[in-house]
Amino acid sequence: MVTVDEAWRIIDRETAVLPAVRLGLAEAAGRVLREDIAADADQPPFTRSAMDGYAVRTGSEPGRYRLAGEVRPGVAEARVPEAGEALRIFTGSALPEEGVEIVIIENTALDGDSLEIKDRPSARWVRRRGSQARRGNRLVRAGTVLSPGAIALMATVGAVRPLVSPPIRAMHLGTGSEIVPAAMNPPAGCIRDSNAPLIAALLGQAGAQCVFHAHVSEEVSEAVKALENMGVDMLLVSGGASVGAYDGTAEIFRRLGFASHFTKVSCRPGKPLIFATRGAQVAFGLPGNPLSHFVCFHLFVRRALDRLAGAPLPPLCRVQITGEAPPADPRETWWPARVFPGRETLCAEPLPWRESSDVTSLALANALLRIPPSGVNGLAEARLFGNLSA
Ligand code: AMP
Ligand code: MG
Repeated sequence: MVTVDEAWRIIDRETAVLPAVRLGLAEAAGRVLREDIAADADQPPFTRSAMDGYAVRTGSEPGRYRLAGEVRPGVAEARVPEAGEALRIFTGSALPEEGVEIVIIENTALDGDSLEIKDRPSARWVRRRGSQARRGNRLVRAGTVLSPGAIALMATVGAVRPLVSPPIRAMHLGTGSEIVPAAMNPPAGCIRDSNAPLIAALLGQAGAQCVFHAHVSEEVSEAVKALENMGVDMLLVSGGASVGAYDGTAEIFRRLGFASHFTKVSCRPGKPLIFATRGAQVAFGLPGNPLSHFVCFHLFVRRALDRLAGAPLPPLCRVQITGEAPPADPRETWWPARVFPGRETLCAEPLPWRESSDVTSLALANALLRIPPSGVNGLAEARLFGNLSA
């Protein structure tokens, strides 16, 4: 049996980062950038106006001016007006690098080609070339998970096919004769499949795709047949991860040629957990209980997915427990919680949890609290995975 920290080290050691691919910006959103992105030109690329109004020579005073023309956005000719002249300009109009100031339209009155300027012109609305970034400046670092904001920044500098982490392809096999599809009314003695929809949703959230799903009985040969010729990055098998007479996942992995790196983690819930690899492919045998599934995915499967993608590892944050702290156990416990912003710190409300099949509080959970065997005293480490609620 390995500790949680040992399991993380083994996963990091045995999981290789997948080769990067070039994708368009829409597909790149949410993926890990695998190259640095630099400005292809100064930003802004030319000096331009931030307002609708008039450009006059630097040092011009309020008074009457002759309207000598206009510079529309998209027109590259920018000249310094003569003394006594004004040029109509718009937000985004090109301006000469030096020598002009702007008066905004609200502070003027136009009568034919005679312009009255009522307020002192200013350089405040001149957006100078290179005032945001210089050509060659690094704007997005390799390793960044591409947010919509990063996508906009890359579009600005023409980085439209960045090198990013590839889509991770996973397959999922459910096991157990007592499990029926969630759309069915379970006959006596059977229960609905909650793990397959859970895994599909968690993979989607992690930027991976479940490209194949099947459900088989406890027959090892049936599982092996379903999984032969798998051409995916990750294999997840639900149920049968323990040592009972009908627990066949270890044998399934062995017959498929996977080498096992651990079969048990000292963690509650989720002790029986198999981690195995075959070349660059990784596999997890997850305990069938849905809460164990949930916790093992967040703690271990997600770590392997992040590693395959070359993503930064999610940090643990410190939270203040509200109410009674969850009880400690000789095995390190990861307790479902709802983390919310308190006045000065992040707070965590431990959610009711009775045993590993109990998912009644999971709709509210956005974090797991780490409860070491020595217990916690008000403060705990938390792995956050959802949005903060009020
Ligand atoms: P196992 O790991 O196969 O021994 O299963 C442990 C418990 O999890 C048993 O009570 C199973 O019925 C339950 N279980 C296994 N697979 C699923 C599933 N896909 N959905 C809901 N519960 C499951
Ligand atoms: Mg089973």
